[in-house]
Amino acid sequence: MPTRRLTRAFVLFFAALAFAPSALAQALPTPEQYLGFRVGTDKKLATWPQVVAYMQMAARSSDRVRYEELAKSTMGHPFPLLTISSPANLARLDDIRAAQRQLAYPYSLSPQDAESLIAKNPAVILITLTIHASEIGSTQMSLELVHRLATEQSPYIENLLNNVVLLLAPSVNPDGQVLIVDWYNKNVGTEFESSSMPWLYHKYVGHDNNRDSFMLTQVETRNVTKILYKDWFPLVFLDEHQMGSSGARIFVPPFDDPVNPNIDPAVLAVSNLLGMRMFTALNAAGYEGVLYGERFTWWWQGSAKNGAWYHNMAGLLTEVASARIASPIEQQRAPLFQTAQREAVGDAPGETASATDPRRPLAAPTDTWPRTNYPRPWLGGTWRLRDIIDYELTITYALLEGATADRAMLQRNFYNLNRKAIAAGKKGDPFAYLIPPLQHDPGAVAKLLEVLDLAGIEIYRAPAAFTADGKEYVSGSIVIPMAQPFRNYVKDLLEPQKYPMKPTAPGQAPERPYDVTGWTLRLQMGINAVKIEKPFTAQLDRVSPVVPPDGGLLAQAVSDERGLRKSRRATYILAHEWNASAVAVNRLLRDARGEYEVFWAAGDFRSGTGDYPAGTIVVRGTGTRDLDSLMEKVARGTHISILQNEYEVNAELWKLRLPRIGLYQPWTANMDEGWTRWLLEQYDFPYTTLHNDDIRAGNLASKFDVILFASQSKNSILNGNRGVWNRPEYRGGLGEEGSKAIEEFVRSGGTLVTLDAAADFAIDALGLPVRNTLRDVPRDKFFCPGAILEIFVDNQTPLGYGMPSRTSAYFLNSPAFELTAPFTTTSARAIARYPATNPLQSGWIGGPEFLYDRVAVADVTYGKGRVVLIGFRAQFRAQPHATFKLLFNALHLSAATLR
Ligand SMILES: [Zn+2]
Repeated sequence: MPTRRLTRAFVLFFAALAFAPSALAQALPTPEQYLGFRVGTDKKLATWPQVVAYMQMAARSSDRVRYEELAKSTMGHPFPLLTISSPANLARLDDIRAAQRQLAYPYSLSPQDAESLIAKNPAVILITLTIHASEIGSTQMSLELVHRLATEQSPYIENLLNNVVLLLAPSVNPDGQVLIVDWYNKNVGTEFESSSMPWLYHKYVGHDNNRDSFMLTQVETRNVTKILYKDWFPLVFLDEHQMGSSGARIFVPPFDDPVNPNIDPAVLAVSNLLGMRMFTALNAAGYEGVLYGERFTWWWQGSAKNGAWYHNMAGLLTEVASARIASPIEQQRAPLFQTAQREAVGDAPGETASATDPRRPLAAPTDTWPRTNYPRPWLGGTWRLRDIIDYELTITYALLEGATADRAMLQRNFYNLNRKAIAAGKKGDPFAYLIPPLQHDPGAVAKLLEVLDLAGIEIYRAPAAFTADGKEYVSGSIVIPMAQPFRNYVKDLLEPQKYPMKPTAPGQAPERPYDVTGWTLRLQMGINAVKIEKPFTAQLDRVSPVVPPDGGLLAQAVSDERGLRKSRRATYILAHEWNASAVAVNRLLRDARGEYEVFWAAGDFRSGTGDYPAGTIVVRGTGTRDLDSLMEKVARGTHISILQNEYEVNAELWKLRLPRIGLYQPWTANMDEGWTRWLLEQYDFPYTTLHNDDIRAGNLASKFDVILFASQSKNSILNGNRGVWNRPEYRGGLGEEGSKAIEEFVRSGGTLVTLDAAADFAIDALGLPVRNTLRDVPRDKFFCPGAILEIFVDNQTPLGYGMPSRTSAYFLNSPAFELTAPFTTTSARAIARYPATNPLQSGWIGGPEFLYDRVAVADVTYGKGRVVLIGFRAQFRAQPHATFKLLFNALHLSAATLR
């Protein structure tokens, strides 16, 4: 019957609609339709808001894409994560995630149960893009990648989506995308098109945002770490970068030597296997200049994908040759078979200060020798953003194909490695690390435990005393058992590194490692952690999440007849040993309003029943109000203990005032300045940023107590960037005029503090009676590219207050000082020194005798002021909590008066 047929047709029609959600959603435009230009077109870039809006549109229009926003970036921009897979996989995403967690912590997952998980779980992989914002191609590329994965109806794409859950972070530095695209768009088409941005592309840490993966200081690092080690435990983590422009077109794994012994060989093998898939795909597609096995090594911790290795995940890096952001590069051509010559290490376009004019064609490639790992060398020509995108699309699909083809193997490998790590930990070497509760700085311990917990490490506290390796440990001791899946990670962060530097011929300089050679956190942070070799038993409570110590006001045990409290003249005592005490001091100084005064004791003293060392922080009320509630609030807010003291403090005292700090910021995007700024903000030091013009204007003593220079070479401080391709307002440095203004500032009573390399500027500009003994020593005689060294500190003098007399310093081709005879009214003294033996504690040093007995921190009086030369990296990447105080003391001392 016609009527009936019609009804049936309607039912079928509606049924079809219900099962085809894409018909209801708006179709996703192609990136070209959306942007109005093809992705990768010369001199055109999608902005970050455009990228974000496109990804949101993809999620709305496709049942293969989910969009979520993680914690906002440092500067408040959206930080999205896309989850891309088949609709069926996305519908059971919670089960897939739970299965990944079971594989990651397989304590009770039998091989049989693991196999049944593996049989049905897709491969979860994470791809992160443009952590280094000027390496701009991959975020642009992601538009085409997502469009195809979201829309293409083909067996090829459907097979990938059925087998893989792709976690895609379109940029792990959204702020940098905004900054770099804005900078480029401002300059494109002008004579400054090739100028590099005069500030960092991450607010605080610039390129070092990929040196933060274990210290987790920045919100972006924490976002990635949460994806990796709390939420997803992906099998594979690929981080897509760009490198310099003159040599190979792309680097893919395998990586180069040396191999860190804490990376399981199977992690190395699986990473290499996936890298070879990329290598194969690129060569099959006929791309030139594909390189593996050189430059990027298996040694270092610190960058995000390297951390994955120590978590038994395949960690992959790709580095594509850079264009000039979106402007093409011309390079002169070279013939085949030129002798191989390694390029400088490093992937940062900004790292090699380009003395050459970027507007001219690049010199021809120097390495055109075809070989197994570089079969078709790049010979020069034109290189553009679109080339970068094509290479990156090729390797990204190669990885998706690899994860699809090797899905079960990758899961089984991850499961087996985690089981193997647990078994290895039970055997010892070591069995556990113990952290006793009594520590120089409990805040540093809490910080260490926090970053380990966030990275998936299982931490315990013993609620009762116990014995291990024949020694008694008190209740409250922290236990980190090594029988856990990510044993290699915590082991590598706590034990000293022994960098295997290749021997060289006499007179030949050692090869530069990729980054630093040592990082041992317990040394850098001044923490006493004990290695336990033999199995022991103790009651253990899991600690997660890690919270900072409870702060609070401690009442003194013995009350006093004299009734000082009633007279409101009582004192409060804070330990100088705790870094967080600096925060408390700054907050107290800011809010004093005449109700109390803040001091450092200038010598050891006894008050009531307590003995206190020089440097102890004393707060004394002026009698106008009861301060207990204020002190309680400050103590809780800063996680320190403040002791109520019922007795007088009879000691010579330094009276503190909030220092007026000027921090020099050059136009050379100095990362160490960014880290310094970050540290000042973390510890509540107010500061003013000073540019070249501010310093050259002079009259600094009326505005500042102290001027601080982060590590920067003398030449860079004086001259900055000079090329005419830079905007005039960002050219140059302090120059003679600025140098004189600094000299005048110190002579009239100011304090100049220089970190690491900036010492040479101060020594020369002021003619200080100090010599940097390493200034002209060649690399074949002395070389220390990032290691932890022992120092001795004079903690009886204000600059050393709160420091242990023996600790660790971070040294990165730093200066070392000799105090020369004073020939004016100037005098100099050593605050910290290297020992008269090899100071190496972790990493590598060549020519240690050059440091024997040398001065590491010098205090020089000059005119009415002083210069503090902190010779090493006291605040290196915000890691060495052991030496932050040397910087803090120098800042506070600049506004202190002895009474
Ligand atoms: Zn990079």
